[in-house]
Amino acid sequence: VVDGRNAVAERLVIVGASRAGLFAAEGARRAGYEGPITMLGAEPHLPYDRPPLSKEFLAADEDTSPAPPYYRSIETLRQQLRIDVRVGSPATSLDTEARTVIAGDQSISYSALVIATGTTARRLPGASHLEGVLTLRTLDDGQRLRAALDSSPRTVVIGAGLIGSEVAAAVCKRGLPVTIVEPMPVPLCRVVGEQSGKVCADLHDRNGTTLRAGVSVSGLRGRRRVEEVVLSDGSRISADLVVVGIGVIPEVEWLRDSGLRLDNGLVCDATLNAGLPGVYGAGDVVCWPNGQPDRLVRLETWTSAAEQGRIAGHNAARPGEAMTFSTVSYMWSDQYGSRLQFIGDAAADEIVTVDGVDVSVARPVDRHLALYRRGDRLIGAFGLNQPRLIPKLRAMIGRGAAFDDAVRACRG
Ligand code: NAP
Repeated sequence: VVDGRNAVAERLVIVGASRAGLFAAEGARRAGYEGPITMLGAEPHLPYDRPPLSKEFLAADEDTSPAPPYYRSIETLRQQLRIDVRVGSPATSLDTEARTVIAGDQSISYSALVIATGTTARRLPGASHLEGVLTLRTLDDGQRLRAALDSSPRTVVIGAGLIGSEVAAAVCKRGLPVTIVEPMPVPLCRVVGEQSGKVCADLHDRNGTTLRAGVSVSGLRGRRRVEEVVLSDGSRISADLVVVGIGVIPEVEWLRDSGLRLDNGLVCDATLNAGLPGVYGAGDVVCWPNGQPDRLVRLETWTSAAEQGRIAGHNAARPGEAMTFSTVSYMWSDQYGSRLQFIGDAAADEIVTVDGVDVSVARPVDRHLALYRRGDRLIGAFGLNQPRLIPKLRAMIGRGAAFDDAVRACRG
């Protein structure tokens, strides 16, 4: 590793032992970095894959592995990537003058640093005193939630985003009653937009999940445990278990006094540099100009965590050959045996259904494909059970393809 002043440095420190952090280590090794790497993780687990936590792990009633670790054991991780990995060691502050990360009583100096601390689940205000109110982000959260489902509770899910929608589908698959409450008119409104969100609403409806959209939660009631959810229209829903999926908060508290720029996450430039020589960011903690210099975005996807990690690791190892990073966002979600996929940007001038039934005039079917147009360009696509076309459309958005060409490619 050479730092911004081209002095040889001795240690790459990666804060965050999840997907982005791991790919940063791999990126640095691939870039030829041979020096020491220290990786700090807040959770007591080795890096693991999060997507199954809200999908098959919750839906299964037999023993299934919760979330597969990326490396089988700490020894394989240490040997293959030559990392000193310290789990259960959350970073507590950063001194950019002294180039030191503090983690409790540990003080680790770095010559290059990758910040990949991710996000934490937002909590519902005023509900912390009640038992039976859970969030889902970590492996431990997943295990708690699965254990809670074993007693066949009446479940209310707050928020119809990705967590809420997947949890509801998994609870439903176990044959248990579930209601989702969502303030927006449709599920996944922020991710896919209102028009495609109707397809998601229909999926819940057809599978027996009750969706209360367009109404918010005014409070939770119960003595020790939660007993009911009170809605803003005055109605009440009985509940033994409440799962809160109302978004995430970037994990930047430990950076508060570091002098790094924080604004909806850690602000980075196009090379994922956080404003100081040798300091980079990766994953869903990062806010950066994704190919558009005047607009910062923060992506919360499994795919971009890996892509950003690899680039941040490379750039930390070879700042003189720093690569810029931009991507076409990609996310998928599995619900009720269907695969939903969304690519690109939902802020469209027009959304055109090219396969399936137009949701504005009829009830949609099990296949749906909508293309998102801004000006004359393709900027996004939403697919329900369209695994073949989505990768092709993602490449087209990356190339700046014309909207009409995309429509022809899908219909042809
Ligand atoms: P999310 O996708 O941001 O969705 C949160 C939902 O909760 C939104 O619909 C939001 O509505 C709603 N909401 C916000 N405040 C609320 C309130 N007080 N009461 C009721 N609803 C409220 O976040 P998430 O579903 O919690 O997921 C957490 C993270 O896990 C995200 O980073 C997500 O990307 C990730 N994740 C990804 C996947 C996947 O990619 N398949 C699966 C699971 C989790 P507004 O839009 O109005 O704020």
